[in-house]
Amino acid sequence: VKKIPMRMCVACRIMQPKRDLIRIVKTADGKLVVDPTGKCNGRGAYICRKEECLNKALKSKAIERALEAPASPELLLRLKEAMGDGQT
Ligand SMILES: [Zn+2]
Repeated sequence: VKKIPMRMCVACRIMQPKRDLIRIVKTADGKLVVDPTGKCNGRGAYICRKEECLNKALKSKAIERALEAPASPELLLRLKEAMGDGQT
Protein backbone atom coordinates (compact mmCIF):
# COMPACT_ATOMS: atom_id res chain seq x y z
CA VAL A 1 0.00 0.00 0.00
CA LYS A 2 1.42 3.31 -1.10
CA LYS A 3 1.10 6.03 1.47
CA ILE A 4 -0.28 9.30 0.17
CA PRO A 5 1.84 12.23 1.33
CA MET A 6 -0.30 14.69 3.26
CA ARG A 7 0.39 18.34 3.85
CA MET A 8 -1.40 21.06 5.76
CA CYS A 9 -2.91 24.10 4.09
CA VAL A 10 -1.58 27.29 5.70
CA ALA A 11 -5.02 28.92 5.51
CA CYS A 12 -7.58 26.35 6.67
CA ARG A 13 -5.04 24.08 8.43
CA ILE A 14 -6.63 20.94 7.04
CA MET A 15 -4.39 18.08 5.95
CA GLN A 16 -4.77 17.30 2.27
CA PRO A 17 -3.04 15.01 -0.22
CA LYS A 18 0.07 16.87 -1.32
CA ARG A 19 -0.87 16.76 -5.00
CA ASP A 20 -4.14 18.59 -4.31
CA LEU A 21 -2.31 21.52 -2.81
CA ILE A 22 -0.27 24.31 -4.35
CA ARG A 23 3.28 24.48 -3.06
CA ILE A 24 4.97 27.78 -2.40
CA VAL A 25 8.69 27.57 -1.93
CA LYS A 26 11.25 29.97 -0.56
CA THR A 27 14.20 30.18 -2.91
CA ALA A 28 17.82 30.50 -1.83
CA ASP A 29 17.65 34.26 -2.37
CA GLY A 30 14.63 34.58 -0.11
CA LYS A 31 11.94 34.95 -2.77
CA LEU A 32 8.62 33.15 -2.57
CA VAL A 33 7.61 31.34 -5.75
CA VAL A 34 4.91 28.85 -6.76
CA ASP A 35 6.40 25.42 -7.27
CA PRO A 36 4.17 23.55 -9.74
CA THR A 37 6.35 20.43 -9.65
CA GLY A 38 6.48 20.25 -5.86
CA LYS A 39 10.11 19.28 -6.18
CA CYS A 40 12.04 22.53 -5.75
CA ASN A 41 14.52 22.64 -2.94
CA GLY A 42 13.83 24.92 -0.07
CA ARG A 43 11.33 25.54 2.64
CA GLY A 44 7.79 25.10 1.40
CA ALA A 45 4.26 25.99 2.40
CA TYR A 46 1.08 24.51 1.01
CA ILE A 47 -2.30 25.96 0.21
CA CYS A 48 -5.56 24.49 -1.12
CA ARG A 49 -6.54 25.15 -4.69
CA LYS A 50 -9.36 27.33 -3.45
CA GLU A 51 -9.82 31.06 -3.72
CA GLU A 52 -11.30 30.99 -0.26
CA CYS A 53 -8.06 29.70 1.20
CA LEU A 54 -5.96 32.11 -0.83
CA ASN A 55 -7.97 35.07 0.45
CA LYS A 56 -7.74 33.78 3.98
CA ALA A 57 -3.98 33.28 3.68
CA LEU A 58 -3.53 36.77 2.28
CA LYS A 59 -5.59 38.34 4.99
CA SER A 60 -3.76 36.59 7.80
CA LYS A 61 -0.39 36.70 6.00
CA ALA A 62 -0.17 32.97 6.64
CA ILE A 63 2.19 32.35 3.74
CA GLU A 64 4.58 35.10 4.77
CA ARG A 65 4.54 33.89 8.34
CA ALA A 66 5.07 30.26 7.41
CA LEU A 67 8.04 31.04 5.20
CA GLU A 68 9.33 34.22 6.86
CA ALA A 69 9.53 36.12 3.60
CA PRO A 70 7.35 38.77 1.93
CA ALA A 71 4.87 37.70 -0.74
CA SER A 72 5.41 39.67 -3.96
CA PRO A 73 2.61 40.79 -6.29
CA GLU A 74 4.16 38.36 -8.77
CA LEU A 75 3.60 35.49 -6.34
CA LEU A 76 -0.02 36.48 -5.83
CA LEU A 77 -0.52 36.52 -9.58
CA ARG A 78 1.03 33.07 -9.95
CA LEU A 79 -1.09 31.73 -7.08
CA LYS A 80 -4.26 33.04 -8.67
CA GLU A 81 -3.22 31.42 -11.94
CA ALA A 82 -2.52 28.16 -10.14
CA MET A 83 -5.99 28.28 -8.60
CA GLY A 84 -7.16 28.07 -12.18
CA ASP A 85 -10.37 30.00 -11.81
CA GLY A 86 -9.47 32.49 -14.52
CA GLN A 87 -10.30 35.46 -12.33
CA THR A 88 -7.35 37.78 -12.08
ZN1 LIG B 1 -7.11 25.41 2.71
